[in-house]
Amino acid sequence: MTIGGSSYDHEWWLPASGALFPPVDGEHAGPDGDGSGGAAPVLGHVSGRESDLSRFPRLGWAIVTCMDTRVDIGRLFGGIGPADAHVIRNAGGVVTDDTIRSLAISQRLGNTSSVFLVHHTDCALLTITDPSFARTLSQQTGQEPPWSAGAFADLDDDVRASMARVVTSPFLPRRHAVRGFVFDVATGNLREVRRRELTAH
Ligand code: ZN
Repeated sequence: MTIGGSSYDHEWWLPASGALFPPVDGEHAGPDGDGSGGAAPVLGHVSGRESDLSRFPRLGWAIVTCMDTRVDIGRLFGGIGPADAHVIRNAGGVVTDDTIRSLAISQRLGNTSSVFLVHHTDCALLTITDPSFARTLSQQTGQEPPWSAGAFADLDDDVRASMARVVTSPFLPRRHAVRGFVFDVATGNLREVRRRELTAH
């Protein structure tokens, strides 16, 4: 079959059921736990008019947030769509070196100027520590991960630390228009976290 101009020969890529990735034997695969993966997504055509959109986000925003399924950035930010902002997601929504890489490209090649950071309550990264996670991986694989999980114990503190990493990054030309938020998954409230005085280097 052909997807996006590329040819895929492996029959596991898209089985007859339409599931993108069929479950590995013995793995839980979806909310139903029946191996169906729930409502199976199917690769397909979107609109064919994406080329009409600008590569530059219309609002000039870059939003960094957690990959958590409950964080719906479009709804949280007043119904914005894909053309309005760059959305950079990772576990925790933390500002890692790779996040800085994306922000640097977003600002320098995508012309964004405002950075929004969104953490959320009940985040998985509140439930582990970096040493414990690294120890678990090491015990199970025999290898220490070269990265840290980026776990945190206090949402507001980590939002402030993440804002500080943006403000002090020498690679970001527009680093002072940064705001941080905590999304409460229980109430749906988005609360702003005020940053303390920070000094850019
Ligand atoms: Zn999270």
